[in-house]
Amino acid sequence: MRAVPPPGPPRLDERRRVADRLGRPLRNLRLSVTDRCNLRCQYCMPEEEYVWLPREDLLHFEEMSRLVDAFTGCGVDKVRLTGGEPLLRRDLPTLVSLLAAKPALRDLAMTTNGILLSDHAKALKQAGLHRVTVSLDTLQPDRFKALTRQNALDAVLSGIRAARDAFGRLKLDAVVIRGVNDDEIVSLLDFARSANAELRYIEYMDVGGATHWSMDKVVSRTEILDQIARACGPVEPVVEESSAPADRFRLRDGTAFGIISSTTDPFCRSCDRSRVTADGMWYLCLYASAGIDLRRPLRDGRALAEIGALIESVWQARTDRGAETRLTLRDRRPFVPVSALRANPHLEMHTRGG
Ligand code: SAM
Ligand code: SF4
Ligand code: SF4
Repeated sequence: MRAVPPPGPPRLDERRRVADRLGRPLRNLRLSVTDRCNLRCQYCMPEEEYVWLPREDLLHFEEMSRLVDAFTGCGVDKVRLTGGEPLLRRDLPTLVSLLAAKPALRDLAMTTNGILLSDHAKALKQAGLHRVTVSLDTLQPDRFKALTRQNALDAVLSGIRAARDAFGRLKLDAVVIRGVNDDEIVSLLDFARSANAELRYIEYMDVGGATHWSMDKVVSRTEILDQIARACGPVEPVVEESSAPADRFRLRDGTAFGIISSTTDPFCRSCDRSRVTADGMWYLCLYASAGIDLRRPLRDGRALAEIGALIESVWQARTDRGAETRLTLRDRRPFVPVSALRANPHLEMHTRGG
C-alpha cells in the first residue's frame, strides 16, 4: 500500500499554476503585518486621525504562515512583508524564519521606512530575510520632517547603513512629488550609489490615503529621465524579462536605477501581485474597492486545500486593471474621499501595504 502523505504545505511539484482572466499568473504576494505606522508621510497618511484595524483581528504569525502556504500552492513564489511600518510588529524575525523555511518561496523581501532598521537588520538577515527595500524621499532633515511629521532622517540613514552591513545590497524607494522633492532626483541617485543601493523612483499615485494628490504634483517618468540625463549623461534602458513594476535604466558609469510609472504608464498588463492586509483581507488590486476575507476560513479551521481552492477560483476571475482604468479618467482626483477612508480603513494604502 502506498503511504499517504501527511497534510501540509504543497510540495513544489504539486503547486498549481493559476492565471487570471487576462492570463496573468499569481506570483507575488505583499503581506501587511500591521496597519500602524511611526511616520505620517504626506502622500500616504496626511490626515490627523486614523481608524485602526481591531487588534483581535490581526493575524497571528502561524496564521500568516498558513495563508502563505495556501498561496504558494497556487503559484506564489515571492512574498514581500510590508505595512504600515512592518518593523512595528513585535518579533518580526519569528515570522521571517517561518516563511524563510518554505522551499516554495524564491524571494522573501521587506519594505520599511527604515527608522527601526538599525536595531533589527542583523536579526532579520539571520532569520532568513533575503532582501530589504527602504523608503527614502529626501536627504534634507527639515524636508524629511515636513514630509513625514517626524525628525527621523538620521535614524533612517543608520537603518540603511545597518541594512547594507547585514545584506550587502539593498533597494531604496523614493516617491517623487513636484514642489516637494523633485529637486533631489539626482542627489538621491548619488546617495544610492554611495550606499550600495539601487534607487527606484515612484510616481506619486492617487491611491486610497493620498488625499492631497493632484495630477500637477505627479513628476512623470519622462521628466525623471530627462533630469537624470541632463545631469548624468546618457541613460540606457536595461532590457530584461520581468514582471517587476520598475523599468530599469543604466548610466554610462554602470549605475542602475528603476522607475515605477504606475500613474502615467501603468504595468497592469503584467501585474502578478496581490495584497493581504494584517487582518487577512485579500485585495487583487491596489485600487480594488472590496477584498476577500481569508481570516474567516483560516479561523474556522478550513483545510489548506479548501483555502487554496478559494484563492484559485477568485484569482481565475480577476480582471482588475486599476491604474490603467484611472488613466482613462478625464477629471482625476484622489481615489477615495476622506469620509470613505474613515468608514473603511481597508481602502487606505497603509492598510493595503503599498
Ligand atoms: N512603511 C513602509 C514604507 O514606507 O516603506 C512600508 C509600507 S508603504 C505603504 C509601501 C510603499 O508605498 C512605500 O515605498 C511608499 O513610498 C509607497 N507609497 C505610499 N503612498 C504612496 C503614493 N501615494 N504614491 C506612491 N507610492 C506610495
Ligand atoms: Fe510613510 Fe510607509 Fe508609513 Fe505610509 S506606511 S506613512 S509610506 S512610512
Ligand atoms: Fe496591478 Fe492593480 Fe497596480 Fe494595475 S493598479 S499594477 S492591476 S495592483
